[in-house]
Amino acid sequence: MTDCIFCTIANKKIASPLLYEDDYVVAFNDINPQAPIHVLIIPKQHIATINDVSPEQELVVGRLFTAAKIIARKLNIADDGYRVVMNCNKHGGQAVYHIHLHLLGGKQLSWPPGCE
Ligand code: 5GP
Ligand code: ZN
Repeated sequence: MTDCIFCTIANKKIASPLLYEDDYVVAFNDINPQAPIHVLIIPKQHIATINDVSPEQELVVGRLFTAAKIIARKLNIADDGYRVVMNCNKHGGQAVYHIHLHLLGGKQLSWPPGCE
């Protein structure tokens, strides 16, 4: 999608240093980090929300998690632990409508997150 910021990053139309790339996904640092490590992992193909994931895309969505594991190991947070989050639509707090897995870590994260 031409007007999607994450498609633009995935297609390398704007420069954003990539922490990880394979045939299906790319990962880069969040512009407004909420933890010492805050990486976004996105599919190269445009999928707007979790609600739009089709059975044919299960491999791509699964790859987001495999990439999270690899990146966590690379950034040395795998053993201490980390959190992955995907927001959906307004109540979930989704701001960018191209699915993305947040990988958060580098400190003790509080739980549960705010439910207000
Ligand atoms: P959401 O609220 O949709 O789950 O998360 C969107 C995330 O994308 C936010 O954490 C926000 O900081 C990040 N973000 C929005 N625009 C950009 C951008 O242009 N570049 C990068 N690296 N991150 C972005
Ligand atoms: Zn997109």
